[in-house]
Amino acid sequence: MGHGDFVSATDEHACEMALGSLQAFLHGELPEANADEIRHHLMICESCMNDFDIEEMISSMVKRCTGTPCASPALRTRITALSVEHRRSMSGGDVTTESA
Ligand SMILES: [Zn+2]
Repeated sequence: MGHGDFVSATDEHACEMALGSLQAFLHGELPEANADEIRHHLMICESCMNDFDIEEMISSMVKRCTGTPCASPALRTRITALSVEHRRSMSGGDVTTESA
């Protein structure tokens, strides 16, 4: 077996933790270790993704932060990374065949 990690990563406590920290995460206020946990959870948890429309939130954050000097470069990098990872996970990994 060995699915223990997967289960613990998607239980309701993980969701509560992720969603409770989401604002801080999006504002770049979390320590990198915590931010990484949140990011990982959002990548694998469809219910969080659906409930909170993460992608919508990200794109509005990106728009707001690229339009104003409010966001630090680190935050912008973080948001962009999340957005890219999310898109990659949604596309199912058809990024391999470039050769003809
Ligand atoms: Zn979740």
